[in-house]
Amino acid sequence: MDVLEKALNGERLSHAEIVSLYHLPLGDVAAVAHELRLRRSDPHTVTFLIDRNINYTNVCNVACNFCAFYRTRKQSDAYTLDYEHISQKIRELEAVGGTRILMQGGVNPELPFEYYTGLLRHIKANHPTIRIEAFSPEEILGFEKFFGMDADEILDRLIEAGLDGLPGAGGEILEDDVRAKAAPARIRTFDWLRILDIAQKKGLYTISTMVIGFGETLEQRASHLIKIRDQQDKALHDYQNGFAGFAMWTLQTENTRLAGKAPGATAYEYLQNLAVSRIALDNQPNIQASWPAQGFKVAQTALFYGANDVGSTMLEENVVSAAGGHSRHNATVRELIRIIDDAGFQPAQRNSFFQVIKPIDAKAFLTAQTSPA
Ligand code: SF4
Repeated sequence: MDVLEKALNGERLSHAEIVSLYHLPLGDVAAVAHELRLRRSDPHTVTFLIDRNINYTNVCNVACNFCAFYRTRKQSDAYTLDYEHISQKIRELEAVGGTRILMQGGVNPELPFEYYTGLLRHIKANHPTIRIEAFSPEEILGFEKFFGMDADEILDRLIEAGLDGLPGAGGEILEDDVRAKAAPARIRTFDWLRILDIAQKKGLYTISTMVIGFGETLEQRASHLIKIRDQQDKALHDYQNGFAGFAMWTLQTENTRLAGKAPGATAYEYLQNLAVSRIALDNQPNIQASWPAQGFKVAQTALFYGANDVGSTMLEENVVSAAGGHSRHNATVRELIRIIDDAGFQPAQRNSFFQVIKPIDAKAFLTAQTSPA
């Protein structure tokens, strides 16, 4: 039986078999990925989330070579947002029917722990319907160092203050030699998995991620996927709370120290890796297409390479866009609905857990949105 047949039969692929997928004709791999997507999630529907990224501070002491967003505290454009400024951003999200914020910063050694707990309490008190998914594993690792508590205690205190989930940012390639070259001080594989495991144990929302284009080998990409798959097995078995979904995008190096040094990845490689991910991750039903890094057209194409979701509106996104992501920082609901409808799927607004909140009548919505007032 060949590897694609094996995948179609629902059998789990080994590391060598996952690597072999990269050497097969992309059309064949995509066809199997799409078939598995149709089986593992609603075949008629493609979902999206209305949310907003809030980057509460750009001060960061990790200094990743691929990051154009961070500043040192002495730079003139270094900032930390106060609670009211963050509230104003959330009010704008509420006005367009948004349901969650994805709040991440740099790893800022200047802020006291009370800034974070106070911020969570402020948001819950003033915006009770908004879910707060905040503080990537890198930030939690920073809190461990700054505040002398372990992740277990930190997360208990953040949950008590209102935290609903942890973004899975910083997964990139979970192979330490790749990580060390791209960002010497970056969180290592062990800690990324350790912190997300604790979060999953505590019932927090989490998501898994992958970024390609550092110059990693195909073997390293397959190893990354297996680490995500193993963690998902463990979390589902031990805590009944695995990753809600998987998001993958390509490295953006513009304005960064990796410009001209890391190869990045083409649209072909992106679609190939997405299809391989869908096949390899047999325990994750929800796989996102990425429009901020790939643009809307490639994201739409991704709906036939394994994706069943187009991610979120990201009313504000500063990190990928600072490093040359898609030039449109604001994806409107209309644009996401248009690409889903145009690809032949039913668009639906979802919550963080990929559950449909509201199916959208695309024709009515698009007609209303394009007619003169
Ligand atoms: S990617 Fe995150 S951790 Fe790395 S320098 Fe940028 S803000 Fe800091």
